[in-house]
Amino acid sequence: MSSYIKLFIQSLFKGLRMYDFIVVGAGFAGSVVAERIANLLDKRVLIIEKRNHIGGNCFDYFNESGILIHKYGPHIFHTIYKDVWNYLSNFTSWIDYKHKVLVLINEKKVPIPFNLNTLYKLFPEPVARKIETKLQKKIGEDKKISILKLKKSDDKDLKLLGDFVYDKVFKNYSLKQWGRGLDELEPAVVERVPVFISRDDRYFQDRFQGIPKHGYTKIFKKMLSHPNIEIKLNTDFKDVLNIDFQKGKIFFKEEEFAGKMIFTGEPDELFNYRFGKLPYRSLKFVFKTIEKEFFQEAAVINYPNDFDYTRITEYKHLTRQKSKFTTFSEEYPQDYDKTVSRKDVPFYPIPYKSNHELYEKYRKLTLKFKNILLLGRLAEYKYLNMDLVIKSALKLFAEGIRNAG
Ligand SMILES: Cc1cc2nc3c(=O)[nH]c(=O)nc-3n(C[C@H](O)[C@H](O)[C@H](O)COP(=O)(O)OP(=O)(O)OC[C@H]3O[C@@H](n4cnc5c(N)ncnc54)[C@H](O)[C@@H]3O)c2cc1C
Repeated sequence: MSSYIKLFIQSLFKGLRMYDFIVVGAGFAGSVVAERIANLLDKRVLIIEKRNHIGGNCFDYFNESGILIHKYGPHIFHTIYKDVWNYLSNFTSWIDYKHKVLVLINEKKVPIPFNLNTLYKLFPEPVARKIETKLQKKIGEDKKISILKLKKSDDKDLKLLGDFVYDKVFKNYSLKQWGRGLDELEPAVVERVPVFISRDDRYFQDRFQGIPKHGYTKIFKKMLSHPNIEIKLNTDFKDVLNIDFQKGKIFFKEEEFAGKMIFTGEPDELFNYRFGKLPYRSLKFVFKTIEKEFFQEAAVINYPNDFDYTRITEYKHLTRQKSKFTTFSEEYPQDYDKTVSRKDVPFYPIPYKSNHELYEKYRKLTLKFKNILLLGRLAEYKYLNMDLVIKSALKLFAEGIRNAG
């Protein structure tokens, strides 16, 4: 019997209360879980999404000049996980794209992450050669070394390199990005982008990399177009769900919801900020369109030391779209404030120890409920790339939903 006929019959007998699962948020976390439940378990899912579109922060669309842009900043898919790549490839074919980023340092646009090409472009040849020889000998070809380790090196040339990269690439970028100095943040922030002892200018070395051929939103449409999935856009979960701490129960439109809820939003909001607000950093994107084939020489150029924005992204480099127009976005970091328009998107958890401790309190509170599962970058309060979100969604489905019965 087709799923549509089954649903029609179910609705005749059960009225409209026939959701087995509720998912809050239609980004990758929520959409992957919903797709798996609908397809593999043949159960009904309601997705509640407060925005007017699916796709979460990966949403893309054609602007008024016909250019495909990423509304919430550039998204490049890359992963070392074959299962994640294969899963996503069920919903898209790919543009073979290898991401390269330039950074403006001392008035030169040079490759980042800092590599041997960057070294030779910024240092006089004899100095660069001396540093390269030491890097090759002490660390080795194609290896990566953290800036913090270089800074602590007892070799004065390697220390010079560490100090240079720290000062010119990270220090001011971080001030703009986080509104705080690097010394206040967890060391992981600097560790994320090490010096690469190689001539490989690619931003990522992952085996699988690409841009979805027809955009990200098309992927989400394909994933979610299943008769078992119903999506309510423009709906905040608080409008339809009531979380009762005392009873450890969820109420959906006044009635107890006994199925599982997969929550991919902000955990402090879920529990009405009972332990205080979890801080996030937000971003403002200023999009500009000009009549020119290209505006800049790479998809992304970073500006650590000049201008108020951190980077400029030009989307046609990613999508290979042909047009006489081009659109680029300037990216301005700012503090998150839910009550102020254009500051009200929580993009990045702020990497402080005290914030993670606060998050833990919220996570533990969910354990009082038998049926709340936290998933994704907001709900787990972690910087997670798309592939890791998809990987944990697949894992949660396999271990926390399918096998849990
Ligand atoms: C600027 C930027 C660039 C990035 N670039 C890359 C990249 O190049 N490559 C990469 O792999 N990753 C990148 N990422 C990470 C990527 O965006 C995330 O991995 C991915 O979006 C996480 O998916 P998610 O479903 O966890 O969260 P989201 O995409 O944020 O989805 C959560 C959804 O929940 C909804 N929601 C929240 N609260 C409520 C509520 N109260 N009621 C109802 N709905 C609610 C939100 O509206 C949202 O749609 C980037 C992130 C940023 C910020």
